[in-house]
Amino acid sequence: MFQEVASEAMNNLLQPVTAIKGIGTDTAALLHEMEIDTVIDLLEHLPYRYEDYRLKDLEAVEHDERVTIEGTIHSAPLVSYFGKKKSRLTLKVLTGRYLITVIFFNQPYLKSKLEMGVTVTITGKWDRHRQTITGSECHIGPYQLEKEFEPVYSVRGSLTVKGMRRLMKNAFAQYGSFIEDNLPPKLLARYKLMPRKEALQTMHFPPSAAAVKQARRRFVYEEFLFFQLKMQALRKVQREQSKGIGQMYNKESVEDFTQTLPFPLTNAQQRVVSEILDDMKSPFRMNRLLQGDVGSGKTVVAAISLFATVSAGFQGALMVPTEILAEQHAHSLSAMLEPVGVKTALLTSSVKGKKRRELLQLLAEGEIDVLIGTHALIQDEVNFRKLGLVITDEQHRFGVEQRRILREKGANPDVLFMTATPIPRTLAITVFGEMDVSIIDELPAGRKTIETYWAKHQMLDRILVFVEKELRKGRQAYVICPLVEESEKLDSLQNVLDVHAMLSQYYSGRYKVGLMHGRLPADEKEEVMRRFSMNEVQILVSTTVVEVGVNVPNATVMVIYDAERFGLSQLHQLRGRVGRGSDQSYCILLADPKTEVGKERMKIMTETNDGFVLSEKDLELRGPGDFFGKKQSGLPEFKVADMVHDYRTLEVARDDAAKLIASQSFWSTPEYLPLRIYLKQTGVLDGEKLD
Ligand code: ADP
Ligand code: MG
Repeated sequence: MFQEVASEAMNNLLQPVTAIKGIGTDTAALLHEMEIDTVIDLLEHLPYRYEDYRLKDLEAVEHDERVTIEGTIHSAPLVSYFGKKKSRLTLKVLTGRYLITVIFFNQPYLKSKLEMGVTVTITGKWDRHRQTITGSECHIGPYQLEKEFEPVYSVRGSLTVKGMRRLMKNAFAQYGSFIEDNLPPKLLARYKLMPRKEALQTMHFPPSAAAVKQARRRFVYEEFLFFQLKMQALRKVQREQSKGIGQMYNKESVEDFTQTLPFPLTNAQQRVVSEILDDMKSPFRMNRLLQGDVGSGKTVVAAISLFATVSAGFQGALMVPTEILAEQHAHSLSAMLEPVGVKTALLTSSVKGKKRRELLQLLAEGEIDVLIGTHALIQDEVNFRKLGLVITDEQHRFGVEQRRILREKGANPDVLFMTATPIPRTLAITVFGEMDVSIIDELPAGRKTIETYWAKHQMLDRILVFVEKELRKGRQAYVICPLVEESEKLDSLQNVLDVHAMLSQYYSGRYKVGLMHGRLPADEKEEVMRRFSMNEVQILVSTTVVEVGVNVPNATVMVIYDAERFGLSQLHQLRGRVGRGSDQSYCILLADPKTEVGKERMKIMTETNDGFVLSEKDLELRGPGDFFGKKQSGLPEFKVADMVHDYRTLEVARDDAAKLIASQSFWSTPEYLPLRIYLKQTGVLDGEKLD
């Protein structure tokens, strides 16, 4: 598609860093460690913060802000040493009305210069609560302004921040004039963005805080636009290259099937069903994310979609993350689908030997219409005769790559990803940027809100009495202990065993207490879940394996130990295990959070039952990395932009990218050349791997 090549000016910028004055092979090697190899790499190595040399009154300085102050020394400096070559120097400084503490790490030599009564100028970070500045620079004598701001860079080895500033100066002097814009003039004008050359210059040689802000605004937009172009191009390529199947389902029998359900669909369910069915009918391959809060009724939507694919002469598959969930889904789907003649089957890793072979055979012959299972479904040995639709539940646990693998299974089936963890809009359009999104934003009528309380662990006695009151009414309870994740197996396993032992003793002779965790053998898990759902066990002590999907409507109490260790969305998921019947349900969070943020998180749980509100809050409080948990993949990394704080720009960039990709001129006119070259480099256009 492209005959286009980089400009002459760009070629200059692509020279190795050694072309810059002052960079020899040693420095080049250090730069290489930071992935800086060419001139433009260096110019794009932006400061991660600025030293602020403007004199400020501490009155007006926020906590954690960087400051420069002038003051007089009020105590002789004390130096203490710790570790190898580590030291801390502490002294008191009077500045304005404040007598503050100043700390310098690893600069013990300052001691001899810092005598009582001497006037000093100190630059550092202000801790408002401790009335302390952690100093980074110290100048003996009164304040003299040389420069308002200096950039601070990440550096390596013998390369210092000052050294880096010097290299930037040289690089700019030699190559600055070759910097061209990569954003089209139209967009620059529309958003009044700084041209690229000026923006780079401003970032490296900041004239003022206001100018840096403008330069940063430009790079935020640039980063988001480029990222979204990649996503939107991927979406386009996937649509056009996918030899999708137009599924000619039978509209009338789908409507008849919907009538057989025990309740009318909510408006939101109707809307998403028609979005999904339209996609299935179209010749493009569906690549759609279905979001709906816990209890919003996604299973029914899945059932209708699966019915539609079967009515069009295809097979369907539903994939879920755990065996327990697979069993539950198999149970509820077969109850809906079997009566109308749709054959369903369950495939998990515990289906073995002859039974497995027979099942696979039936599947290959097309005798099974809908297969439900765990990841076992995407193994090589599993072959469908005519797979039309794949649905996965709780998809947010996977990244872009896993989604591709799944899509590539079978003869271009339509794919629907369901998630009960509402994903904040900003993440939805980054992590899932290449997908279409449907949202169920309405719960079936008549749901009671779950009453949520936050209690300290020392109030456990009272909680146990409260739980017993519910049990006496014939209800059941969950008690959840955190995290049996691979990394912390032993500790947390002990935790859940201890709690189980304690509760067994406490309720001994009155109620049965079951134990559930990920390391139990599959048949024991099944057995304890069966006994809990039959009310043979009244209290289930469990790790988070019950987090998703488990459905025991008679359970009305959810107690969560160490609740501060969970994300809000995860707490919300756990809470969603109760409130499934007609009785009032309760969720009790046992938590002793140490931080303000921790307290705020517990508080908001008691205040709202809305998963979308919680997910936005969670993202705001914990940041995008923690939102999905440590191991989560698929989160893009931005150098300048911040997905949470710059989300408005992200949305704007997404819309712009979508419009560009869809327009004729984007693919032909010269003003978009740099953007096209970028897309070519990412490999997205050739259907190569993303990233
Ligand atoms: P989730 O979205 O969490 O998977 P489910 O599909 O499990 O939710 O549905 C939760 C409960 O709500 C189920 O018991 C289901 O039968 C019921 N339900 C679903 N849709 C409706 C509706 N339109 N009206 C009433 N109840 C519904
Ligand atoms: Mg569900």
